[in-house]
Amino acid sequence: MIYENSISFAKRLDQSDPLNKFRNKFNIPEEGGQQMIYFAGNSLGLMPIISKASVMRELEVWEKMGVLGQHERWVDYHTRLTKSTATIVGAKPKEVVVMNALTINLHLLLISFYQPTPKRNKIIIEQGSFPSDRYAIESQIRLHGYDPSDSLIEIRPRENELCLRTKDIIDTIDRYGDSLATILIGSVNYYTGQAFEIEKITKAGHSVGARVGFDLAHGAGNLNLDLHSWKVDFAVWCSYKYLCGGPGSPGGIFVHEKHGDWSGPRLNGWWGNKQSTRFLMDSELDPIVGAEGWQISNAPILAMACLISSMSVFDTAGMPAIIKKSIKLTGYLEYLIDSLEQYIKIITPKNYRHRGAQLSLVVKKEPKKVFNGLRSKKIVCDWREPDVIRVAPAPLYNTFVDIYRFYEIIKGLVK
Ligand SMILES: *Cc1c(COP(=O)(O)O)cnc(C)c1O
Repeated sequence: MIYENSISFAKRLDQSDPLNKFRNKFNIPEEGGQQMIYFAGNSLGLMPIISKASVMRELEVWEKMGVLGQHERWVDYHTRLTKSTATIVGAKPKEVVVMNALTINLHLLLISFYQPTPKRNKIIIEQGSFPSDRYAIESQIRLHGYDPSDSLIEIRPRENELCLRTKDIIDTIDRYGDSLATILIGSVNYYTGQAFEIEKITKAGHSVGARVGFDLAHGAGNLNLDLHSWKVDFAVWCSYKYLCGGPGSPGGIFVHEKHGDWSGPRLNGWWGNKQSTRFLMDSELDPIVGAEGWQISNAPILAMACLISSMSVFDTAGMPAIIKKSIKLTGYLEYLIDSLEQYIKIITPKNYRHRGAQLSLVVKKEPKKVFNGLRSKKIVCDWREPDVIRVAPAPLYNTFVDIYRFYEIIKGLVK
């Protein structure tokens, strides 16, 4: 793609953008009567306009029907999300379910997929993984009576590099070999914006007999994912970032179909029981085959109503079109910021296959001041200590003109 550094070029890109009309399906926050430029969709995606009506509808069912709503409408409510969710992560319907929140789901799946033994008790993560994932993993290691300083292996970038090389990840997996129980990598690192090569990592993990899982918090709704074909064992994600499901919206899990008929360790609850026998209230669990078997509690209907509405927007747009625009949009941001090379360094990989809709910028002089300057100009992006500004152009509601305006404002601030 040949880009040009001009507002007229940005406007032309918007006019020819097949997803241009999707912006109108979202509420764009305003400040002082002026729309903000919102680049924080990797923290909290914007609210689809239909979300309000979707939640109101369930409130009305509750209002008018009470528990009859449960019998007639909500008992299998989560299955309304199955098809869209499977599409987003490249799974078979049986392999996914929406439930709980991300870190809780990570714990639930580690109970099943991290079963350390004296010989095989190590778990690999990437250095700089999201703190919550790290806390979860360390506590799981301790829960089994092992010591994180021995069992937790962090893969580090090479000296003077910030991103990990796939080769180094694979070499580390080979080096630890049959002492490795589990591998858990993010799909996109929240800090650098690096997207990892899921298929290759999975293959390497399986070749040493380890279970391989991914945290797709920054991958779901952002990257092209094909978890089933890549033979990933398990994955977890949240839906309030790129998927626009609303604050605290429920997370999702993937469990490969080869593990669907699970008889290993698992924490159980009544929602993991087959629906046909659940209400017989038998004392013996009759588990659902597939990811739904990991469910514990009944679903949070209002939060799910919100997510259903945003998933319908994703369904209409389709991931192929979303990704196509995303590559172009982030590419344009990169092109413009590269012209400010003297002042700003991009630490996210250059190759679009190794990133999603996010660039992490290191402003060389007074970064916090520049960040505050952006905020005062009605730009919402996010700050990560010690010096990174994360900018995430979301293809469903951001425009090429948003990118150009951002560039002009940050140019004024750094110069
Ligand atoms: C956003 C994010 C989380 C958040 O976890 P919750 O349990 O949903 O609060 C966890 N891990 C990663 C990698 C994230 O990006």
